[in-house]
Amino acid sequence: MVIVMKTDSKESDIQEVSKIITSLGLGVHISKGSERSIIGVIGDKRKLGDIPLELMPGVEKLVHIAESYKLSGKTFKPEPSIVDVNGIKIGGKELVVMAGPCAVESQEQILEAAHAVKKSGAQFLRGGAYKPRTSPYAFQGLEEEGLKLLAEAKKATGLQIVSEVTSEKSVEIADKYVDMFQVGARNVQNFQLLREIGRSKKPVLFKRGSATTIDEWLNAAEYIMNEGNYNVVLCERGIRTFETATRNTLDISAVPVVKHLSHLPIIVDPSHAAGKSIYINSLSKAAIASGADGLIVEVHPNPKCALSDAAQQLSPDEFGSLCKDLSEISKILGREFKYGT
Ligand code: PEP
Ligand code: MN
Repeated sequence: MVIVMKTDSKESDIQEVSKIITSLGLGVHISKGSERSIIGVIGDKRKLGDIPLELMPGVEKLVHIAESYKLSGKTFKPEPSIVDVNGIKIGGKELVVMAGPCAVESQEQILEAAHAVKKSGAQFLRGGAYKPRTSPYAFQGLEEEGLKLLAEAKKATGLQIVSEVTSEKSVEIADKYVDMFQVGARNVQNFQLLREIGRSKKPVLFKRGSATTIDEWLNAAEYIMNEGNYNVVLCERGIRTFETATRNTLDISAVPVVKHLSHLPIIVDPSHAAGKSIYINSLSKAAIASGADGLIVEVHPNPKCALSDAAQQLSPDEFGSLCKDLSEISKILGREFKYGT
């Protein structure tokens, strides 16, 4: 439930209402919009009993949330959220681009990738250290050694680091090295892992599962937020359909739908959607045109030799052209993206 305050309500009115709610063992989330404030009630609203909150000074109305997700929904917080990762704001006017190899393979590879993506304008370096591969015999990632190499690349370039965590143990280890956790498509409903990430305050890039509806995805985000971590950025990465020409089908409509239902920022991963490097540029532009707040793109210094996802990784030059295009289309869309360092 949310309590919508009147446009002329006073700060003391908000405090009085909040005091009653918290005294009953419930949590509050105050969202101050440009016109009015909204107080979200966190927890079992039955605890409120018959208290006539709607009669309190400054209260306009009580709104019951129909959706099963609450904290991630627009009713709870109508204003768009901006997730700040060490000064890089995701969900604001500026587009945020995360780029780098599918997996961290060696010091030379990750440093070369980091310098290349930085040169074209990326703000984040991506790279998997824990790789949840379809086959147990495929390259599984360098684990902590890979995280150390990412931290080294951050030192060399100043890029923020995003990397996937796959277990509670890996959250504990990655916490020392990364600026943003990534939850991959295969773990979207690993609720134990989501709760663990929720107990950290570190921002999280939360990918959609390949067979997850938007409703299930927003409910899953709720597991992270319900533990107190509101720094969630959603990422559409393609869903499984009957089409086999691409690895997955990029659900471009997820972007406007999520923008309509949720206040959370959303970025798009065209790489795992397409599975083929030749389609990345078009899908990236479509994603930004549809309202996405940024992209996460796989870039490898030598894609043909990549140990994972070789077919979909862009070369540094291809990534450079994409960034040039992004800086052009961002102007038309009222966004900003700076090509080059
Ligand atoms: C990845 O980004 O490294 C990855 C494995 O993607 P996804 O979880 O979307 O398959
Ligand atoms: Mn990959």
